[in-house]
Amino acid sequence: MSRVYNFSAGPAVLPEEVLREAAEEMLDYKGCGMSVMEMSHRSKVYDGIIKGAEADLRALLQIPDNYKVLFLQGGASLVFASVPMNLMKNRKAGYILTGQWAKKAFAEAKIYGEAVELASSADKTFSYIPDCSDLPITEDMDYVYICENNTIYGTKFHKLPDTKGKILVSDVSSCFLSEPMDISAYGMVYAGVQKNVGPAGTQIVIIREDLLTDDVLPGTPTMMKYKVHADNDSLYNTPPSYGIYICGKVFQWLRKNGGLTAMKERNEKKAQILYDYLDESKLFRGTVRKEDRSLMNVPFVTGSEELDAKFVKEASAAGFVNLKGHRTVGGMRASIYNAMPVEGVEKLVAFMKEFEKNEQV
Ligand SMILES: *Cc1c(COP(=O)(O)O)cnc(C)c1O
Repeated sequence: MSRVYNFSAGPAVLPEEVLREAAEEMLDYKGCGMSVMEMSHRSKVYDGIIKGAEADLRALLQIPDNYKVLFLQGGASLVFASVPMNLMKNRKAGYILTGQWAKKAFAEAKIYGEAVELASSADKTFSYIPDCSDLPITEDMDYVYICENNTIYGTKFHKLPDTKGKILVSDVSSCFLSEPMDISAYGMVYAGVQKNVGPAGTQIVIIREDLLTDDVLPGTPTMMKYKVHADNDSLYNTPPSYGIYICGKVFQWLRKNGGLTAMKERNEKKAQILYDYLDESKLFRGTVRKEDRSLMNVPFVTGSEELDAKFVKEASAAGFVNLKGHRTVGGMRASIYNAMPVEGVEKLVAFMKEFEKNEQV
């Protein structure tokens, strides 16, 4: 068996320790004689798994008691619709457009009401985070929406927008659990877990209790009402039970490894290794304004499509895989999520230096 250094943006690398444990428990989970994917989601054993996962997540993020944690299905893209369905009481909300995922959420919200563009960085291919200190937020807006870490473009909000008292809804899919965050600053945060936390198919919603009401937009399917899921502790129907189990293992791995403060330090160290090299390299350069750089997704280019393609191909052959940039951006992108070891980034940079040297002769 040989494992590669996987720089995929998602589904992405998971901790090897977690995968090994899951493999050991595959046929017989702790003496049950069956796999977690074969057991009833209403069994006592599974109850322990889902409750344990929630407790570990609450401990990691220090989630206040007046927030509910929901384990749902449908991917982050379904949330683009369930946010307006559940929260757009006045049928008006403000969106900050910082990339593809924010744009998609914005387009989806327009199906349900008036979605207003508050700010955008489209003018420079989303390579920066716009100034959000004085946004044109109006009294009748139900919420302000952001995509906090832009997976495709490699930007991150390092400071949250001034929402002028409106609730903030944030898509944290690609930075979830990469560093501590203050949940009380948000009305709702959500993440598709396949970026930094677990296998595709599960999404996690953390929502303030007072926002859970029956007063949703007409026509909202039962399965998309957050209150229904909250009232049933994420067991209204069959949840993505195996995915939640793996997420729970990743939460435990995070706690064992020092929690989110330690994770942030490690992630900063990894990102710095890569950004420092991009800043000094004469061949490669980062595409994002320095102060808005993401710790998780690092896009870079050589300036020549041909050379980019050559690099991706040679890197892949050397065991550094999934470095090709998103199809809408081109170039390269290294996603260096929690489970990517420091050593993986060091080796990648050593490989890049060697490539640069060979190109110059
Ligand atoms: C990947 C991603 C999505 C879409 O996730 P799906 O689970 O495929 O719907 C949405 N937002 C962000 C920030 C992402 O990185």
